[in-house]
Order: sequence, then structure tokens, then C-alpha cells
Amino acid sequence: MKCIRNLKIATPHIIPRPEHNISRANISEHATKVLYRLKAAGYQSYLVGGGVRDLLLGREPKDFDVATDATPEQVKEVFRNCRLIGRRFRLAHVHFGRDIIEVATFRSMQDASEPGDRETENGMLVRDNIYGTIEEDALRRDFTINALYYNIEDFSVVDYAGGMEDLQAGVLRLLGDPDTRYREDPVRMLRAVRFAAKLGFVVNPACENPLFELGSLLQSVPPARLFEEVLKLFMAGVALHSFEKLRHYGLFGQLFPETEEALAHEDHEFPITFVIRGMQNTDSRIREGKPVTPAFLFAVLLWEPVRLLAERLRAAGESPLVAMQQAGSDILMTQLARVSIPKRFSIPMREIWNLQHRFEQRAGKRPYRLLTHPRFRAAYDFLLLRAESGEVEQELADWWTLFQQQDGDERNQMVRQANNGDGDKPKRRRRRRRRSAKPADPR
Ligand code: ATP
Ligand code: MG
Repeated sequence: MKCIRNLKIATPHIIPRPEHNISRANISEHATKVLYRLKAAGYQSYLVGGGVRDLLLGREPKDFDVATDATPEQVKEVFRNCRLIGRRFRLAHVHFGRDIIEVATFRSMQDASEPGDRETENGMLVRDNIYGTIEEDALRRDFTINALYYNIEDFSVVDYAGGMEDLQAGVLRLLGDPDTRYREDPVRMLRAVRFAAKLGFVVNPACENPLFELGSLLQSVPPARLFEEVLKLFMAGVALHSFEKLRHYGLFGQLFPETEEALAHEDHEFPITFVIRGMQNTDSRIREGKPVTPAFLFAVLLWEPVRLLAERLRAAGESPLVAMQQAGSDILMTQLARVSIPKRFSIPMREIWNLQHRFEQRAGKRPYRLLTHPRFRAAYDFLLLRAESGEVEQELADWWTLFQQQDGDERNQMVRQANNGDGDKPKRRRRRRRRSAKPADPR
């Protein structure tokens, strides 16, 4: 009997078709095509990973992954519409228009016979291209519930790791020694949090304890990979759960150090409330099928440190806009060292921040101009969150809500009232503050 990382390769538990609930009708047409075509070409072909897990749980899978004994090159021979991708992890992508079915060759965790097929750096796996058998492939996966295979040959589910039992019990359990497996790939810690939040599963104690200890390993993960993971954590409808769990394990600070610092040192309650409301807002938008953009999500996650720094800069005499721009670029710079944020998201994120002070300007033509700004809607949604968490007056948010709903005459009336009454106040206050701040300004 072979032994890999203390896991004995046993005969698999085979669950025949009548004893599980996976029906071909619930597998996507494209995935089914790939499965059958590989089988017809004489290869083993299985559905694996999240697709099998979610179908067994009666959930709708996000995507379908296929595992086979065909090498990527052999897969390419079977499908015209196939591209090979990845260096670290070589895969075949079978394209059907915009839909992609990922086909992975069974991999082994055994030592490499060819140098370069597997590389590790300080215990971290950076390249993994040693092909193996289905048993070996099962054991190098992360969690037992992710190591279940649906066999297109006889429609059975193949379980080498006790995944079926864990699925029924609602338990997340890593395969092998948890410490080693987290060190090999620290992203598995984030995956543990994500699946626990998404499926409502408990992490079994042996896999949970290292989460409190090993967070700093995330510093060795490329920021671009962490960006992908952050999106999966916060854009799957369980952002709030994910946020709370990440903080519980001390992992949030590894991803958003400046935010963690700001949340930890704040006396008032509202910064936490703000992030929580932002997460709730994202979750309910996803539930309602409304679009969510990573720009808004990152604007929420980084707002607290940006706001505090902008406040300090304003106290030192900077104008509201310059203070916000400066704070935004400083915080973004630090953040990018941990989790990258592509420009297509960081630019609108910063616009959301930069527009905030303009909501205070309700006199003259300014409110009309703000209304036509392409980023108005996102900035306004952001203002609502700030008001809900008590950072700005609810009256200000209500004014803007009404201003959008009113027609021309009533709008003009609102602006006139703002000119004569409340609208003047922030202006006067600002002037006073600027004057008193002048002596502190070194220029
Ligand atoms: P979902 O797609 O719903 O987010 P998933 O489990 O399918 O969840 P993927 O990232 O699509 O997640 O990965 C597919 C499968 O590949 C997983 O189910 C798991 O078996 C394996 N896998 C993914 N990432 C890792 C990892 N870091 N370490 C080991 N196995 C992994
Ligand atoms: Mg998947």
C-alpha cells in the first residue's frame, strides 16, 4: 500500500447513481460534451471539484471542471476549440463561445522524476506538473469535499478521501497534514474561510487552529492571485460572513493592513459599521441580481484609512480635493503591495472617493453638475452608506435622494433653500476651519 503524506491510498468509496442526486440534466451542456468526447477518445473523464460538491449539495455550480488521464497535449488533439494555458499549473481550456470548460490532467504529489516538473520555494508549491493517477489526483486536492469525482462512464461518484461523509456533516477538512498543506499554498487558508462562509460549513479543529497562526504566509503570495481570491471572497453573496471570519482568524489584516489598523484603533463604532454595511449592501445586491463592481467594493474596504489620512491632510491645510487625492494615492500604493487592484477598478474607486466632498456643495450650479458626472450613481450609493453608518448627516443623503427625484422647478427650489439656509453652513464652517489651520501650514 502506497502512503502519501500519511494518507493511505485505499480503495475508493463508490457511490452508484441511485444513491446520489447528481443528474446529467444539471450539468452544463458544454461540460457534458467534453466529458463524453474524452470518453469516446478512450480516456477517463470525470467531473470534479466545486461542480460535484455543489450539485451534491443541491446548489447551482459556478463552473464545471473536468479531470482526465489524457495529457494537456492529448486533450488538445481531441478538441479543436482548445487552448493550453498556465506554466505553474498546465491546463487545457476548451472554449464554447464565452464559456470555458477547464480540463486538468490527473496530478500526483510524488517527487518529480524530471527536474522542473515540480518546484517549491520555502515549502510553497510554485509549479506542479507531474501527472498521476486519479487516486493521486484526489489526494493533492485541498478539501475532502472538493475531491469527489463524478464518473461519466457509469454516473457514479468516486470518493477517495471521505468527502461524502464530510459533505453530509457540513465539515471542511484538508487532506493530509494541515500545516504542510497551508504552507504549500497559503491561499488554502482563504479558501477555507470562503467555503466555510459560502456553504455554512465548520472548519474541523485541526484545520482551523493553523488559521490563527499562519496568516503571515499570505505575504508570499503574488498580489495578483490575492486580488482574484479577494473578489471570490467578497463577491459571492457572503461578503459579510467572509469579512467577519477573516477578521476572526487575523487574516483580514494580511490582505488589508491599513484598514485593519484603522479599524483596530478607532474609538467610535462607525468605521466597523461602515464596512459591515458595505458588505451587507454588496450581498443584497447580489441576491437581487443587481450588478456589483469591484471598484465600489474596494472603495468601501479602503475608505476608513483613506478618510483618516484625508482628515489629517485637511487639518494641515490642504483643500478637500487635494487631501482626498493624496490620501487615496498613498493608501492605494501601500495596498497594491498586498493585493493588486487593476487600474480599471482603482480609477473609478478613487473617483468615488474624490466626489464625496462635492456632495456638501449644494449651492449654485454645482449640484446639477455633480448629477451628470458619470460616476455620480456609485458615489451617491457610497454617500448613503456613509450616512447610514453615521459618518455624515442623514439629512445630506436625504437631500440628494430627493434632488434626484424632483423635477426642474422643485430642484431649483431645493438649491435656493440650500443657498439661503443649511446649504450655506458647511461653506462657512469650512472657511473658518481653513483660516484656523493656516498657521500650522508650513508654507
Ligand atoms: P468554486 O469554483 O465554487 O469557487 P471550486 O472548489 O470549484 O469552488 P476552483 O478554484 O474552481 O474551486 O478549483 C477547482 C478544484 O481544484 C477544487 O475543488 C479543488 O479540488 C482543486 N483546487 C483548487 N485550488 C486548490 C488549491 N489551492 N489546492 C489544492 N487543490 C485546489
Ligand atoms: Mg470551480
